[in-house]
Amino acid sequence: MNIGVRDIDRVNLSSSGDHKTITVLGSTGSIGCNTLDLIAREPEKYTVKALTANSNVAELAKQAKEHKAEMAVIADDSKLDDLKTALSGTNIIAAAGKDALNEAADMPADWVMSSIVGAAGLRPTLTAVRRGATIALANKECLVCAGEFMMEQVDANNATLLPVDSEHNAIFQVFDFDEAEKVDKITLTASGGPFWNRDVSELGDITPEEAVKHPNWSMGAKISVDSATMMNKGLELIEAFYMFPVEKDQLDIIIHPQSIIHSMVSYIDGSVLAQLGTPDMRIPISYTLGWPHRIKTPSKKLDLTEIGKLEFIKPDEVKFPSINITREVLQKGGSAPTILNASNEVAVSAFLNGKIRFLDIAKIVGHTLDKITVHHMNSLSDVHDVDEEARIVAGEIITGFTK
Ligand code: NDP
Repeated sequence: MNIGVRDIDRVNLSSSGDHKTITVLGSTGSIGCNTLDLIAREPEKYTVKALTANSNVAELAKQAKEHKAEMAVIADDSKLDDLKTALSGTNIIAAAGKDALNEAADMPADWVMSSIVGAAGLRPTLTAVRRGATIALANKECLVCAGEFMMEQVDANNATLLPVDSEHNAIFQVFDFDEAEKVDKITLTASGGPFWNRDVSELGDITPEEAVKHPNWSMGAKISVDSATMMNKGLELIEAFYMFPVEKDQLDIIIHPQSIIHSMVSYIDGSVLAQLGTPDMRIPISYTLGWPHRIKTPSKKLDLTEIGKLEFIKPDEVKFPSINITREVLQKGGSAPTILNASNEVAVSAFLNGKIRFLDIAKIVGHTLDKITVHHMNSLSDVHDVDEEARIVAGEIITGFTK
């Protein structure tokens, strides 16, 4: 059985009473903006230490001023002068580059939102883990590409990892960590994305604009495409394996197009516990922000009579090969999830840039996995090497798929 968030109760809950110091890694994205929206509603409860972005200087500077951040970091170091100009006349420290991202994560904030997209979030997230912070983890790619090492570091540094992904947050709310052996299975619900009920013959010509239009959730481009290919659910399967003390074959996926039940835990007595809510990421984010207490959100309250019916459908694993690919990867373990994550990031980016077709994404991931020998990884530097190799191989494969 793997380690997970089960040891959370032995963590020193709150060093500072009701007041929290906050850092948001990836503050300009969808999760970052939702997080700051909650913080802005009760500013007296929070002090913002650092905010970070990749290249969106204007939004980052606006947020940093509004939230009186101590530091603003832009990962793209060619934009440092722009950031300095945008923050001139304030006391906010402007910094740029990957090392500065790390410095932001290292600042003594009680609570860190990890919401950079992709494996780029791994290093700063680990930095926050290593100083024993409470980390609200939205960046699932971190756990997919380096799950074992991340969880080891969480344990070793007495850090706290709180799941932000709505499914994992739901599981976290209903999982009986004291009697984990009484859990029969975890069921991750999936909206199915925009194409779950389309015929596979219609998927060949899907454009990036269509793929990013999610029916229920407003999210960043990468996760929206992952949701459309259902790779997102596969990544979440791996994420759940590392977060919760269950075996690989205790994880199930079901399509639930209304996105009201966010996931379920079934117990050996036949009881099934679920968490429900309207599809608004501010609900799971608030659970991690207030944890161990609940806080009020402006989210629409759930009215089941308004919704009328909830549907559940078995996913079509032929139409969505990503699910099978991720199941195999989870079984293989070792470097396989790292290869999966890196090749998927490369393929999604190629699709968004119009270089490949929608259905090519899963093929490229599958071919990359076929080409690279899976091995046991001993260190984080192994993770970086595998990630780099998989990106190169996926890039080469993509040239053969060009539209
Ligand atoms: P977005 O694309 O909306 O935002 C990503 C954020 O990361 C932005 O602040 C972006 O900066 C920054 N960023 C991008 N690339 C880099 C980089 N190389 N280095 C440093 N910073 C970078 O993504 P989302 O908010 O949708 O998703 C963030 C994470 O949360 C993902 O891992 C996703 O899977 C996960 N998640 C998201 C959900 C959602 O509802 N959106 C739900 C559950 C999980 P800039 O704006 O400058 O580009």
